[in-house]
Amino acid sequence: ERPVDWGDVRRCFPILDQEVSGRPLVYLDNAATTQVPECVVGAIAEHYRRDNANVHRSTHTLSARSTASLEQARATVRRFINAESAEEVVFTRGTTESVNLVAAGLAAWHGAGFSAVASALEHHSNFVPWQQQALRAGGSFAVAPLTEGGDLDEVALVSLLESRPRGIVALALVSNVLGTVSPVARLTQLAHERGWLVLVDAAQGMRHGTVDVQAMGCDFLCFSGHKMLGPTGIGVLYGRRGLLDELPPTAFGGEMVEEVSGERSLFERAPLRHEAGTPNYVGALALAAAIDFLEGVGREAVAERERRLLMRLEEGLRALGRVRVLGAPRRREGVISFTVENAHPLDVAVLMDKRGVAVRAGRQCAQPLLTEAYAVDRVVRMSPAFYNTFEEIDVALDCLERTMALLGS
Ligand code: PMP
Repeated sequence: ERPVDWGDVRRCFPILDQEVSGRPLVYLDNAATTQVPECVVGAIAEHYRRDNANVHRSTHTLSARSTASLEQARATVRRFINAESAEEVVFTRGTTESVNLVAAGLAAWHGAGFSAVASALEHHSNFVPWQQQALRAGGSFAVAPLTEGGDLDEVALVSLLESRPRGIVALALVSNVLGTVSPVARLTQLAHERGWLVLVDAAQGMRHGTVDVQAMGCDFLCFSGHKMLGPTGIGVLYGRRGLLDELPPTAFGGEMVEEVSGERSLFERAPLRHEAGTPNYVGALALAAAIDFLEGVGREAVAERERRLLMRLEEGLRALGRVRVLGAPRRREGVISFTVENAHPLDVAVLMDKRGVAVRAGRQCAQPLLTEAYAVDRVVRMSPAFYNTFEEIDVALDCLERTMALLGS
């Protein structure tokens, strides 16, 4: 295999080539949103220039082209996650909508029999929907705890699954705060053996190596386009075929019904039954273009480079005294969060931005994790992507050190 020319790869992201606060931008907030390569921007523009029309509805040529792009995108996603069939791929607005679709559907299906367990690692979007549906349905909800290092406590998880009414377990493939990579294939097996369904939130896991739903064995998998080089407003819900066909739809409207009368409606099978209204077909084709780009660079090469960038970052952070890195999971990918002694995380982020370095500070939409597991209110988070350079990591570390000096920490 030819080695990747990372300089060439980086040039596909012209946004990175700019100054912020008079210094070269160092973008280290990729866990929130990744940048979009030129070819994806081009695919969107091309579609609007040449092919745009609503999908499925009409027989004219432009509509047929739009429809073909949408279904081609579904096929690309199917291949990317190794689903058995394209009917298992539902397009949504993102991870949040995907989780809500399943949580609300299961609650409508099971009523007071609704039961969910979420891990303490979860982003709010894979936590609050389960909690709220349980509250509304009068069902049950519990949180699976972590070990001290920030891995899921498997013994505790199993005992929860054995002591509660059967339902669904919600697990992050990669934590957006600690970067913990959970062994979802094994956890899925443990859950299935006890009669539970499993939903995997793969939002932070799509750039790092292979996400293979058949190898994982999960029942549902959710992710967002904007965290894997695609645009905002497009995401995916993968669901096993039989389950998606049975899951009650939660949004009603055009395109999801087979027959409608004054008394009742007959719903389509999956995926259409879960895609009411005009879908974001331009987002879908752009997501497919992003997948093509990622595969063109090489998923393993991307994963390997991101691992090395993160390692350099982690070593640098640990070498700075007065920085507390959160967690020490068995496997960490993508993100690292920390606090700085005597400095507020928001101050750190604002001052770093004044030197061109973009990092995130706050609760990272994971309050149960931060406050209950680590007793901190807010953290600073850095998340390199493959288009970052090792020099940028050094610039960021240097910037953090200067910021700490400024804040007197
Ligand atoms: N889960 C995880 C692990 C995330 O990191 C995020 C985004 N920060 C989400 C879910 C929510 O994704 P979205 O906002 O695209 O719906």
